[in-house]
Amino acid sequence: MADCIFCKIAAGEMRARLVYENDDVVAFHDLNPQAPAHILIIPRRHVASLSACSEEDGALLGKLQLAAAAIAKENKLENFRLVLNNGKGAGQSVAHLHYHLLGGRRLNWPPG
Ligand code: 5GP
Ligand code: ZN
Repeated sequence: MADCIFCKIAAGEMRARLVYENDDVVAFHDLNPQAPAHILIIPRRHVASLSACSEEDGALLGKLQLAAAAIAKENKLENFRLVLNNGKGAGQSVAHLHYHLLGGRRLNWPPG
């Protein structure tokens, strides 16, 4: 999608520190990390949010979560948190679905 920074990163048109990619999923370090490990996991295809997903996106959502688990394992993160902000009021600032994989420090609960 034009003017979507995460579409541009997925297409290789914008630089990012990639950690993982396959046909459906791309993962890269967050520009403004909130933990020693802060990786964003996105679908290659533009999907605006979790709320915009339908039944057909079920397999893709599973792939994103499995990629998160594989990346955590690869980075020796036994304890980690997977966060998805849905909607501006919940902190979603980029309208391309993404999971935040956070780890490498104690993660308190409840989150802010
Ligand atoms: P959100 O606030 O939508 O849940 O998360 C968006 C995340 O994307 C933020 O943590 C922000 O730091 C990150 N981000 C925004 N622009 C860029 C960028 O151009 N490159 C990278 N690597 N991360 C970005
Ligand atoms: Zn996009």
